[in-house]
Amino acid sequence: MNNYDVIVVGAGTAGCLAAKTTAEAGLKTCLIDRKRREEIGEKICGDALGEHHLKNLGLEKPQGGELEKRIEGIKIYSPDLETIFAIAHEDFVGYLLNRRLFGQWLLKKALDEGTVLADSTQCLEPIIEKSFVNGLQAKNLKTGKNIHLKARIVVDASGFLAVLRRKLPRKMGIENEVANEDVEACYREIRQLKQETKNEGYCEIYLNQKVTPGGYTWIFPKGGAKVNAGLGICMRGKFPNPKSQFYKHILTRSLFEGSLLLQGGAWYDPTRKPVDNMVGNGVIIAGDAACLVNPIHGGGIGPSMLSGQLAGKTIIEALQKGDVSQKSLWPYNCRYMESYGVKQAGLDIFRMLLLTCRDEDLNYGMKYRLLMEEDVLKAGLGEEFHITVTDTAKRVFRGLKRIRFLNKLRITVNFMKQVKAHYKHYPESPKNFKEWQLETDALFKEAKSKIME
Ligand SMILES: Cc1cc2nc3c(=O)[nH]c(=O)nc-3n(C[C@H](O)[C@H](O)[C@H](O)COP(=O)(O)OP(=O)(O)OC[C@H]3O[C@@H](n4cnc5c(N)ncnc54)[C@H](O)[C@@H]3O)c2cc1C
Repeated sequence: MNNYDVIVVGAGTAGCLAAKTTAEAGLKTCLIDRKRREEIGEKICGDALGEHHLKNLGLEKPQGGELEKRIEGIKIYSPDLETIFAIAHEDFVGYLLNRRLFGQWLLKKALDEGTVLADSTQCLEPIIEKSFVNGLQAKNLKTGKNIHLKARIVVDASGFLAVLRRKLPRKMGIENEVANEDVEACYREIRQLKQETKNEGYCEIYLNQKVTPGGYTWIFPKGGAKVNAGLGICMRGKFPNPKSQFYKHILTRSLFEGSLLLQGGAWYDPTRKPVDNMVGNGVIIAGDAACLVNPIHGGGIGPSMLSGQLAGKTIIEALQKGDVSQKSLWPYNCRYMESYGVKQAGLDIFRMLLLTCRDEDLNYGMKYRLLMEEDVLKAGLGEEFHITVTDTAKRVFRGLKRIRFLNKLRITVNFMKQVKAHYKHYPESPKNFKEWQLETDALFKEAKSKIME
């Protein structure tokens, strides 16, 4: 029988957490994925996960090879490689994952709670009746047959492709499209180096606007002589091909001499603020499908799991009330915005600064401490970075040659504060949403004109 309480589309990190949460509460849950069961978890990814994400979600540390290497912090290199910010803080401590095993571990958690898995099943489009999503059309990729699946609530956790979100009617009030300039095109390889590096467990990040405009290159240790290396480029205007850049500028480094390609591929990362509204009648959007990724470093495993769990909790409450309307599902928006969305929106402003920073400014700014490790750390933690009066004076003194950059930094910090304050007042019901969204658009438009001019 193809009737469920909940159907979750996509067995990634968001979908598995959503399915686990609803199935645990006794709801009849179906999880569908176009991949075969044994492929679930495979993803073109940097594979880095902060330890705090597991703790916050109440998940224990997996013990079966899912965690390949412990990470002590990050090192950020200036474009000229002369300055290195080394940030070791408990929130940057984490792991390099074996992505497939980690995905399988999460999947098992959902299945152990009673979730029904429909693998090799591709979602085609939502079924909408009387303005409510109440199921979907899918294709069984093993038999080639189309099927209808019915549910009281459907979760779109299909990642960047957002197969349902893109096909929802406009009047549902959920953005269908995401602008190219809010997406990073990435290319990544897992390589076996000739010998183990001296890296003591730091994730390395290289800034360089010529190689990776609006993005960065990463080299993450995976244990032994294995590394996960890749780069992301903002899809703004005319942008270079990520794979060509990787082969031309990164693989030519001595580190990779004689290295062996184990796995390679390209994918997209939506690095922006969350989709303004993530719920409609009978439908919730989670993870990358709702653009729930840190706009600066592109990390989305943690926020996607969080959103899956929050979606699950909200669905349980809605079904207890017997009301799956947008209004009843609205608390999901509020919960996500409060827990991670505020930080994400603030960082989307910071991204504007990074997008328009020239390499010379970054070199100078990092070397002469116009931008400091503390700023990066606080921005990463989602905290305000107060540039105090004395601090400003000191930075002005050090930054006389880069007054324009310093001004931009100050403008950026002010807009980050405004945006975060605005997101802290995310509307408690759909009633005031339009007004809030208009203010959001105006605030981002103004920030863009002042920071990116
Ligand atoms: C190159 C790169 C590097 C990254 N590095 C990091 C990192 O180091 N750390 C970090 O935290 N984040 C990183 N991210 C981001 C992170 O990978 C994502 O934010 C996270 O995986 C989102 O999880 P999700 O469950 O929303 O989507 P996904 O993990 O993409 O899962 C979506 C699932 O939906 C399925 N699906 C898609 N379409 C259909 C369909 N039509 N029917 C049925 N199933 C479908 C897919 O098969 C997939 O299993 C990176 C992203 C990229 C692209």
